[in-house]
Amino acid sequence: MVLVEPSHPGNIGAAARAMRTMCLDTLVLVRPARFPHADARARASGALDVLETARVTDSLDDALHGCTLVAGTSARLRALGPPVLTPRDCAARLRQAPATADVALLFGRERTGLTNEEVARCHFLIQIPANPDYSSLNLAAAVQVLAYELFLARDVAAPLTTDGEPSPATEEEMQGLYSHLESAAVASGFLDPQQPKYLMRRLRHLFNRAQPDQREINILRGLLNALQQGKRG
Ligand code: SAH
Repeated sequence: MVLVEPSHPGNIGAAARAMRTMCLDTLVLVRPARFPHADARARASGALDVLETARVTDSLDDALHGCTLVAGTSARLRALGPPVLTPRDCAARLRQAPATADVALLFGRERTGLTNEEVARCHFLIQIPANPDYSSLNLAAAVQVLAYELFLARDVAAPLTTDGEPSPATEEEMQGLYSHLESAAVASGFLDPQQPKYLMRRLRHLFNRAQPDQREINILRGLLNALQQGKRG
């Protein structure tokens, strides 16, 4: 579970408790406003170990290091966003992910949620069905709902075995591909850096839907290299 810029330490503690009750323990905090904090400890109650082992990072990149599947949570639907799932469908889908997949669930800021750039990092978005007139849950309550669905789904199906399968691409490998695509697009004249519009965001959505593995990323990067060298030659 990754909380992006949580402002209330009490919510961090309540999220830790929510996770503990559902047998989850890997909490990552991206630039928390105040942490560690007495309110976080008080709200964590018996889940202090989740707080004490929480990883604090300066950037989302650091938080997603090594992840192969990123799911964001949002009370709102977004234009130009990734596919939207319910928590139940998300939990079922994560059960089918390869055992090697390292999954991150992103939660947004209490006031403003996740930015469009953060959402563009996600393979899919999870929306907790709620009152259409007031659909925004408290941050820790949203963590609880997701943790509960993951808990229920856990024993229903065994993860698929991945013997002989190439590993899913990590976040760093995906970022490497996007930087490479962007520089090749600029160098070729296809992308005007002064007027990038939504090209990179659309490409991210395309590749997030495809979920390429490491071998496929290597093919794409090799192809880009060859095209760039051909151009220079
Ligand atoms: N005004 C913000 C609400 C943020 S609530 C917005 O419109 O995005 C804080 C966080 O709790 C959200 O970023 C999301 O991670 C989670 N959350 C709250 N309600 C949710 C819902 N109905 N579905 C999924 N996530 C939700």
